[in-house]
Amino acid sequence: MQHSLKGRIALVTGASRGIGSSIALSLATAGADMVLNFLTRAAEAKAVEAEILRLGRRCVSIQADVSVASEVQRLAGEAERSMGAVEVLVNNAGIARQQALEQITESDWDELIDVNLKSCFLVTQAFVPAMRTRRWGRIINISSVAAQIGGVVGPHYAASKAGMLGLTHYYARYLAADGITVNAIAPALIETEMTRTNVKASTSNIPMARFGSVEEVSDIALLLATNGYITGQTINANGGWVMS
Ligand code: NAD
Repeated sequence: MQHSLKGRIALVTGASRGIGSSIALSLATAGADMVLNFLTRAAEAKAVEAEILRLGRRCVSIQADVSVASEVQRLAGEAERSMGAVEVLVNNAGIARQQALEQITESDWDELIDVNLKSCFLVTQAFVPAMRTRRWGRIINISSVAAQIGGVVGPHYAASKAGMLGLTHYYARYLAADGITVNAIAPALIETEMTRTNVKASTSNIPMARFGSVEEVSDIALLLATNGYITGQTINANGGWVMS
């Protein structure tokens, strides 16, 4: 298991901190060479990169706003040139600015849908052709419990995360014959900057009575990156908030 991703190249969007950095470290520990995408915090991305290099893996950090098609094209080109074909893609980048319902504007809606949902489409479209050529790929989309029960951010966030499940189902069905699995992870409240800055984040609805750790999400990403027969699924990591 430890080296089951040896020789594979993986890309995590929004990998400079939180869930994304934990997934990047977990995939690298299992043997993957890594492409780390980040938006603004270059120093944090470089710190994750240094940790991965210390594991003996190849790693590169690439700045790009994944909600913009031209930036995604540049990201794909730079990733291919510096590392080779990406075979494991984790669509993790996201924002969750908590707002009062009546204060959410059209531009708030557009921004959040672009960053959380359109990015998942743009990045997947950019990296799927190489996976199809190689007839092997893993795509992991970080959705949320908000897709299932609304959550504590806002309707735009819930809709963006539910949209990721639709993308997951479409791509899973369409790409299965090419040896590509596509799955989603739906975490509830995980101890990251996103949760720490949301005044509505509380453990009161969570049977486990605590926030989850980033490792409790990255463990699942590693499973989905290494398993070839799970596809089209949503794996919940929510302390029992939603049961299925
Ligand atoms: P975080 O705020 O710590 O990290 C989000 C990352 O996404 C950051 O690195 C940020 O720079 C990056 N990002 C944002 N916009 C970007 C853009 N346009 N282009 C590239 N990168 C961009 O939050 P987190 O908790 O680690 O969240 C990671 C993912 O998990 C998000 O999609 C979030 O919606 C989802 N999620 C989080 C929780 C939670 O409780 N923390 C629960 C469910 C789902």
